[in-house]
Amino acid sequence: MTVPFLDMKAPYRELQAELDSAWRRVMESGWYILGAEVEAFEREFAEYVGVKYCVGVGNGLDALHLILRAYGIGAGDEVIVPANTYIASWLAVSYAGASPVPVEPLEATCNLDPSRLESAISSRTKAVMAVHLYGQPAEMDAINAVARQHGLKVIEDAAQAHGAGYRGRRAGGLGDAAGWSFYPAKNLGALGDAGAVTTNDPDLAEKVRVLRNYGSQVKYHNLHKGFNSRLDELQAALLRVKLKVLDEWNARRAQIAARYLDGLKDSGLTLPFVPQGMQPNWHLFVVRSPNRDALQAHLKRQGIETLIHYPVPPHLQPAYREMGLSEGAFPITERIHREALSLPMGPHLSREEADAVIAAIRAFV
Ligand SMILES: *Cc1c(COP(=O)(O)O)cnc(C)c1O
Repeated sequence: MTVPFLDMKAPYRELQAELDSAWRRVMESGWYILGAEVEAFEREFAEYVGVKYCVGVGNGLDALHLILRAYGIGAGDEVIVPANTYIASWLAVSYAGASPVPVEPLEATCNLDPSRLESAISSRTKAVMAVHLYGQPAEMDAINAVARQHGLKVIEDAAQAHGAGYRGRRAGGLGDAAGWSFYPAKNLGALGDAGAVTTNDPDLAEKVRVLRNYGSQVKYHNLHKGFNSRLDELQAALLRVKLKVLDEWNARRAQIAARYLDGLKDSGLTLPFVPQGMQPNWHLFVVRSPNRDALQAHLKRQGIETLIHYPVPPHLQPAYREMGLSEGAFPITERIHREALSLPMGPHLSREEADAVIAAIRAFV
């Protein structure tokens, strides 16, 4: 048996009739940028997340970047980011002209450690960017409390957290604003690049709406030096179809996760830890092992595809050479990067495939 990391064709097979009629509707409408589909998706996604506003943009990196711009965060400012994240969280800060200030994660959840925030705050700090890594919500109550004390904005990088639950609420409505990615491999994936900003702040929503469209509210009248980062009608129409099955597909992921957690207990691997009250969306199922590379090679020989999220932390990337950080600067983050292995996970992974993964891992350890 070969087990793919994520079957990218199965979503279309399952939703073919609805997706085909959605793109046909757009094709025949003759209207492709900022129209009825984007407006409908924005309304539906805001309602799903449980916030007042959603603004569709071009991709997840732009969503985060435009939030920072809309808050006026830029040159000379600092934004606290997790040391342990996908580099896009940092790039958004750099793109805005501000400096990312990395903070180590909690060992158990791999998410930002709230107890380390205070010492990272300076007079130039303007915001904290919390990432719900792997689809596991960050410790938002504690992060919000510290941020409130210091007058900082809290921005959620919700790019991996579609439908994730935090003490009865949904990720993306837990801070001041959230940036979303609908990259095809995310839990809610478009068929190309797409993103969004969600917030309860009417001023922020309006500012992002203007910034995504050349800084213009009224065509050919420009309030700001804006950008071109719009969710297009076609992606919005396809996302509306996929939003309807998000909860069901997340539930399938949760069943696979439960199977892995049970089948791999006592296997010697460090398994994902879910704190009380958190409902991950299981975007990724990440195990940890000091023998990660050998385990991955063994699984590959058995036909099981795994991935590493992520092999090199942002502070050790050539892109951030200017920070002058070397190996040892963030030991928890670096250890996670050495040990993490993402097992096959997705709404179309069968029980048999999950069992094959479990058996192959048990044969190794
Ligand atoms: C995918 C992702 C992004 C970026 O999204 P794009 O749509 O690819 O720009 C940002 N942050 C995290 C944590 C992500 O996983």
